[in-house]
Amino acid sequence: MIVETEGVILHGMNYRDTSKIVTVYTKKFGKIKVVAKGVRSQKNKFGSSLEPMTIASIVLYKKEHKDLHLLSKSEIAVVLNRLQENQERMYCGLAVVELVSMVMHDEDGNGKVYELLTESLTAVNAAEKNHVNVLLSFMMKLFGELGFGMNLQKCSVCQKSIDELDVTHAFLRLSDGTMTCSDCTGDLQTNGTKVSGGMLKSLYYLQENEIKQASSLALSSNVKNDLIATLESYLRYHSEGSRTLKSLSLLYSTQ
Ligand SMILES: [Zn+2]
Repeated sequence: MIVETEGVILHGMNYRDTSKIVTVYTKKFGKIKVVAKGVRSQKNKFGSSLEPMTIASIVLYKKEHKDLHLLSKSEIAVVLNRLQENQERMYCGLAVVELVSMVMHDEDGNGKVYELLTESLTAVNAAEKNHVNVLLSFMMKLFGELGFGMNLQKCSVCQKSIDELDVTHAFLRLSDGTMTCSDCTGDLQTNGTKVSGGMLKSLYYLQENEIKQASSLALSSNVKNDLIATLESYLRYHSEGSRTLKSLSLLYSTQ
């Protein structure tokens, strides 16, 4: 069956002499693998449309009950020409596609996840600063789509809303993403991971606002590092087989 769809290139690996097997997160079918014949030869008809992070329009022969399909045509659908401009942009963009590759199952289409993914890459491309915030906002929203979103709007005990609370710290429970304020727990660690008031409000901001607004949030490097560590532990708790994002660790080793 010949089908057309839009997709984001997650990664590729060399296959035989001149081809590649490319993993794409498509709008219609979710994550699939396609063979791009001749992409490493002089007769390459795909141009640079199969590089990771590319949003491409593709045509493929989709084989029923097979997990490898044949790519017939691919071209760049949205030009994101700043992603390679500096290391921060590039590694944040790569971390976004790495995350999708890691947590999404094969051929499990989810239009909302596709939308969040393309919004995130577009936002990383456009942002002038704080690119990593885009990734963090994407993570918060993706958790919600996958059924384990955090519930930070109010304290799980006194039910006071996050806006009413003047907390120096709170506790975030990894098992269900609920928050308990310091008035209700004092310093008892039994309610989860201790997070600062600033960190709690930053998480809430990243969850509630549009992805493209994430980069306008200024974070100190301490808060930023804590947020990354917390979101990665949260992900490991909820998504089987997930591990530290390699692209993100590359970024932080360069600073
Ligand atoms: Zn409370």
